[in-house]
Amino acid sequence: MNKVQRTASPLAKRNAGVKEIKRLRNTLRVRDLELAELKKKHAIDLQELDKVAKMLVQRDLERSQITEKREDELKQLKESRAALLNILEDAQAARKFVQEEKEKISAIIANLSDGLLLFDAQDRLSMVNPQTEKIFAVKEQDLIGKTIPQLAAFPATRPVVILVKNEGEKIFRKEIKLREKMTLEVTTVPLTIGKNQLWTLVVLHDVTREKLIEEMKTEFVSLSAHQLRTPLSAIKWTLRLLLDGELGNITQEQRGFLEKTYQSNERMIALINDLLNVTRIEEGRYLSRRVLIELEQILQIVVNSYKEESKRTNIGFKLEVSKEPLPKVLVDLEKIQVAMQNLLDNAFRYTRAGGQVTVSLKSDKKEVELSVKDSGVGIPKDQQEKVFSKFFRAANAVRIEAEGSGLGLFIAKNIVESHGGRIWFESEEGKGSTFYFTLPVAG
Ligand code: ADP
Repeated sequence: MNKVQRTASPLAKRNAGVKEIKRLRNTLRVRDLELAELKKKHAIDLQELDKVAKMLVQRDLERSQITEKREDELKQLKESRAALLNILEDAQAARKFVQEEKEKISAIIANLSDGLLLFDAQDRLSMVNPQTEKIFAVKEQDLIGKTIPQLAAFPATRPVVILVKNEGEKIFRKEIKLREKMTLEVTTVPLTIGKNQLWTLVVLHDVTREKLIEEMKTEFVSLSAHQLRTPLSAIKWTLRLLLDGELGNITQEQRGFLEKTYQSNERMIALINDLLNVTRIEEGRYLSRRVLIELEQILQIVVNSYKEESKRTNIGFKLEVSKEPLPKVLVDLEKIQVAMQNLLDNAFRYTRAGGQVTVSLKSDKKEVELSVKDSGVGIPKDQQEKVFSKFFRAANAVRIEAEGSGLGLFIAKNIVESHGGRIWFESEEGKGSTFYFTLPVAG
């Protein structure tokens, strides 16, 4: 057999070859088909892959955008945080500053030598300082929260709160005697707090010591003036006797000297009288008995006593009284006469020869008004506000009249005001002055 096989015929060999080729072709076809199938399948996979890849790229893009946005947000957040921290720091610094300021103000209020009281818009006492406690000798807790009427019930606080209540909302400064050896200068200051809330700050300044010194000064001046008056009067009468020839004849030259001495003595007496009047005003015992009178009657007497002066100084002098009868006034005759004299003295002293002095008297139903007009040197604008002060003399007045106490107008003002009247003036330097005063018509 093996031999037969080994020696197969060419035909058989060819047939076997054809068969083999067929099988191979079939295998090839199958492989092609498989390949085509594979190709097809992979094509689909590639498309998917492409899609996925694109999706992935898109996602990546989105992610990176989101990351960028997040980073931006984070940055903003960091910035906001820093800003917030700054604001917080500022707020803390401001709070510290406010706290320090508050402590400073509290320390000032607590250590102030003046007493302070703060009333709220409902007139309730909302703050006092230790000095106020000392002045009233009352503890803070007994004062805080009390209204003005409640405080007026306490004898210790009564004089002050009554004053505050009566003076209302305007700023004022007044002296009160709280008790023996305790004089206060009370000042109220309206404070606007919040929305038009009107609070009141009351400042209590202890002026006991100043008052005591003032009283001692007044007492000293009064005593000295009284002591000086007697010898000056003695000199006056001795000089008078000499001048009248009662003590023997005197030469013309001696008369001249004696006249000058007499005038100097008169000026000294006038000054002493002025000082005594001032001390009486300051001690509150100036006015004496008052009488009902027509002012014209007193004025006529005073005006008559200046006629001589008018001739001597060559200054024109006129009295103008309104034609209608003038209503009567209730006055201390002697004092009103002094006030008139002081105005007339000044008008003649501060007017040069050839000038004019006019006295006028008129009235309405409420007041009688007297004016003294002159064409004299006038009062410089910048010095006008001091004219009624004690011892004030303007520079231009001193130049033309060296003598003068600066007390005349202070006394006149006190006389007029203690009668319930008003006193004022209009003046222009170099042109003249007019001084006015009024007295209320007796009702
Ligand atoms: P005295 O006349 O003694 O100086 P007064 O108190 O009477 O004191 O007057 C105060 C000052 O007011 C005067 O020194 C003067 O400067 C000024 N004065 C007063 N009256 C007049 C006036 N009629 N004309 C100009 N100045 C006047």
